[in-house]
Amino acid sequence: MIQLYMPLNFLGVVYRELKQSTADIDRMFGLLNEQQEINDSPNASTLVIDDPNRGPSITFDKVCFSYDKQRPILKDISFTIPAGTTTAVVGRSGAGKSTLSRLLFRFYDVSSGRILVDGQDVRQVTQASLRQAIGIVPQDTVLFNDTVGYNIRYGRPEATDADMKAAAKAAQLDAFIESLPQGYETPVGERGLKLSGGEKQRLAIARTLLKNPAILVFDEATSALDSRTERALQTELWKLARNRSTLIIAHRLSTIVHADQILVIDHGELIEHGTHESLLASGGTYAQMWQMQLSEPDHVEIN
Ligand code: ATP
Repeated sequence: MIQLYMPLNFLGVVYRELKQSTADIDRMFGLLNEQQEINDSPNASTLVIDDPNRGPSITFDKVCFSYDKQRPILKDISFTIPAGTTTAVVGRSGAGKSTLSRLLFRFYDVSSGRILVDGQDVRQVTQASLRQAIGIVPQDTVLFNDTVGYNIRYGRPEATDADMKAAAKAAQLDAFIESLPQGYETPVGERGLKLSGGEKQRLAIARTLLKNPAILVFDEATSALDSRTERALQTELWKLARNRSTLIIAHRLSTIVHADQILVIDHGELIEHGTHESLLASGGTYAQMWQMQLSEPDHVEIN
């Protein structure tokens, strides 16, 4: 009986690890109930990143995409994120911003065109190696009913305690965790301690720091955090983005003023791109969006 139980128990652990390693990504993309039809090509190779300490260049080359044939979502999108730089995508709700990152992860294949990571078409590399190279900080981080330490460590389950604590420190979560009576052993999740939106995103940053991916995707939360938490998160985010190729899906323009490049997507088309300054100077859609956000009442939560 014990002999039978042990492998089953082991399989349970393995299954849990596998499931959890994709949970944030699934949650981010709302894919929990969707059938995935993407398979590795028979001669898929492992993604090679020329300089892992800088991040790869990422190119969308004439990308068209639709979830169903009747309704084109992305129309002939071309841009490059140069190695080690940060690109932000803005546009109204439903414009197709998150779809760009779903295609980069290869949750779907492009209808036409191609996506290259350091010159390699994402359809020609293994999904495992592609996803290993990408870390995400989602809007809403999945917390497992386990300890804070476990939740951070799932970025890299084999990480040592010291590495895990260093990541928590870099994400400015260490003082908070150490103030808890059970420290890193504190249960969190539905049946444990509830974390605030800012604490959850910092936990996601700590996880991603542990994973140390060459590509970072940051999906900014739609709801504003209080302005002090927001500023602290910004600082950590920019530190995390250093030496990586970063895609920020932005909802607040103030977040992305310093991005190397800003893309404005409207109805699936890339209508403007440039830096914050150049886009303001050209007086187009981005400049109008900026003016609108300036005049909006500040949705700041009071803590
Ligand atoms: P938001 O700022 O609100 O997050 P977005 O710009 O990220 O929006 P996407 O999530 O990329 O927008 O969605 C673009 C369009 O594709 C939307 O009209 C959406 O309804 C549609 N869409 C998204 N996912 C699917 C899906 N799985 N099946 C069919 N249509 C979808």
